[in-house]
Amino acid sequence: MNDSYFLSLQLKLKSFAMYNVPANFINDQEIWNIIETHKIADKVQVKEVLSKAREMKGLDLNDVALLAGISDPELLAELFESANFVKDTIYGKRLVLFAPLYISNLCSNECLYCAFRATNKGIVRNALTQEQIAREVEILIGKGHKRILLVAGESYPIQGFQYVLDSIKTIYRVKSEHGEIRRVNVNIAPLTDTEFIALKNEGIGTYQLFQETYHRETYKQVHVGGKKRDYNWRIWALHRAMKAGIDDVGIGVLFGLFDFRYEIMALMQHIRELENVFGVGPHTISVPRLEPATGSNLATHPPFPVSDTDFRKIVALLRLAVPYTGIIMSTRETAQLRRETFALGVSQISAGSRTNPGGYEHEEDEDDPSGQFSLGDHRPLDEVIRDVASMGYIPSFCTACYRLGRTGHDFMDLAKPGDIKLHCAPNALSSFKEYLLNFASSETKIIGEKLIIDTISQMEGLARQRAEKLVKRVAAGRDDVYC
Ligand code: SAM
Ligand code: SF4
Repeated sequence: MNDSYFLSLQLKLKSFAMYNVPANFINDQEIWNIIETHKIADKVQVKEVLSKAREMKGLDLNDVALLAGISDPELLAELFESANFVKDTIYGKRLVLFAPLYISNLCSNECLYCAFRATNKGIVRNALTQEQIAREVEILIGKGHKRILLVAGESYPIQGFQYVLDSIKTIYRVKSEHGEIRRVNVNIAPLTDTEFIALKNEGIGTYQLFQETYHRETYKQVHVGGKKRDYNWRIWALHRAMKAGIDDVGIGVLFGLFDFRYEIMALMQHIRELENVFGVGPHTISVPRLEPATGSNLATHPPFPVSDTDFRKIVALLRLAVPYTGIIMSTRETAQLRRETFALGVSQISAGSRTNPGGYEHEEDEDDPSGQFSLGDHRPLDEVIRDVASMGYIPSFCTACYRLGRTGHDFMDLAKPGDIKLHCAPNALSSFKEYLLNFASSETKIIGEKLIIDTISQMEGLARQRAEKLVKRVAAGRDDVYC
């Protein structure tokens, strides 16, 4: 055995030791103390915090706890109004679209809320071959998608982790007349340092991982088998990812497992920790709520159900607490609730999703029980786009930042209100124009073209010049133009 073997072993042991210690940045005592102090939201204090939030510099844990305690309808309306102000100022009317791509439902874990858990006999197991993945990607490209979120259970076919790396290669390799996938984000189980480096080298966009619940006792109760039982391995995963050079990470909580007030406070502690260590926080926050899943009693009867009102409150609160972090809303939620959350802070949505591997090729099996959970929004992409555009939001397929290396710190610097308007708004319009020309139904085209004209007419200065130039180039037949 040579020196480099021992060196790599030493490094492995070092990182193993570091990442298996309890995460002291999730401080239970602090969370409960602050929640107790702000149990009843004082009207004057709430108004003070809301006016601080409008300065778009974020909120601290005390502020978050105070807003989480709001129940008075008048104060709630003010919270929503403030979130809308911040959302509009920073993001304008853009909404980024993506599709999840489930490559495999094999899993060795026992998460009691998930249909993919190892011992669930109620679903058909399937890991797509590279040919099948390519077929799914062709279908998604044919619908107009440019961003994919690759999803898998925690068990890979014979190739092991290489299966994920190969799948990413396959996705980027598929090309068609009017498109290709331009950004692959990934939501897979925690990796080792070396695996994260390999993942980065495949050119992924964001690595997403949800802690599910930050509450250790609940975590233990709902993760009863497999590697995922190890809370510490999971909580340190985003540190490992960022250390490996993955600039954009996505964070999240599975709402319904434990008290949502505790969860958002712990989520804030996790965000602050990443900011302290790496100088930049997560790129996105996801807010999945427990949905019914085949063979899961827990998913049908969440121990801490989150009402629609509290769900809206969570989105609004996160928008104010971390103004520059994207918020993702999946098709777990109904079309109506999704619509409402756009104004409260959501900046990215999935559309036309399937959660069973092979689900895009076999669309006729809408109720295929091999899906991970039930969906609330079954509408195809074109219908979602038409709806979003009718509400005045610009569906964006832009991937410019990631492709120009504007990630991590650089992205957060750009995310300042003035700067974002100069890049994101023109890019959203040109990518939307590309969608309208190549993929939209005639009904969507009419609504979309009018929206582009109206939006540009309200723009000023350099942003308007750029938007006009980019949209004109797309109209003249150029695809994939951005600044
Ligand atoms: N297997 C990996 C893991 O657990 O991290 C990654 C993919 S997993 C398929 C993606 C996410 O789906 C999980 O992190 C969990 O939050 C969510 N999920 C699982 N069961 C769900 C359910 N019944 N309702 C809503 N979301 C669910
Ligand atoms: Fe497996 Fe992820 Fe589902 Fe847990 S949540 S059973 S790890 S796929």
